[in-house]
Amino acid sequence: MAIDHKKRGALLDPLSNEEMRLLAEAEESIKNGIDTLRIIAEWIKLIHDMRLFRASHPTFEAYCEDRLRISKSRSYQLLSWVKNVHPGGQTQPILTTEKASRAIAHLPPETQQVVIKKVLEAGDKPTAAKLKKAAEEFKPVEMAAGPPPPAVGPKLPDRVALALESDSFAALLADVRKLKASLKSLASEPLGIWLNLQRAVSGLQTVSDALKTARPYAPCPYCNGVGCKRCNTFGWVPQNTYEMAPIELQTWKVTA
Ligand SMILES: [Zn+2]
Repeated sequence: MAIDHKKRGALLDPLSNEEMRLLAEAEESIKNGIDTLRIIAEWIKLIHDMRLFRASHPTFEAYCEDRLRISKSRSYQLLSWVKNVHPGGQTQPILTTEKASRAIAHLPPETQQVVIKKVLEAGDKPTAAKLKKAAEEFKPVEMAAGPPPPAVGPKLPDRVALALESDSFAALLADVRKLKASLKSLASEPLGIWLNLQRAVSGLQTVSDALKTARPYAPCPYCNGVGCKRCNTFGWVPQNTYEMAPIELQTWKVTA
């Protein structure tokens, strides 16, 4: 018997807490799997587009079947999927035209996502023209010879500028340094005879390491301060995260 779709609401069957947890877990795993699949598909596309199979195989199909053990139809499925899938996830609209994809193809996937989001948030359709305009502020800066201009100009959002200018971390680090010096001096006096200096100093070292790895270092290289997943939407990142970014994104001139 066919289900009366008008009554479908009445058939909805709520999940138990355990089932909801299970569903969330399943969805999380699927999302991770999709990310992995996208990476595989991108590599396959690269082999296809650059014809890297040409030294050993007459055709891309032959190469896939022989070397990757992927059927011809599956390989083309992956190719067309990677062309259409939105970078970074399934939740946002797919760019449907080749022209639109090309408008932001020069940007890293994370930045592409930020650009698309910007266009959508402005209430526009992600057309090639709109994307191109929105992508302008994310242009890589090293174009000509000579010293690169600072990556981020006056447009740095306030909260990012404030974080980078904040001296809270520097002040705490100075306190830790001072404390270390005081401990050393106390340990050299008769009064400090029972002080385990090494242990105390190494504890302080842990504190200063933790501070150093957490202090604001640069605007997020992935979104130039706009806010994205990589910077937890704060727009700035600590040194380690900054230095892990692809080198071409590391355009911020650290002054300190
Ligand atoms: Zn970011």
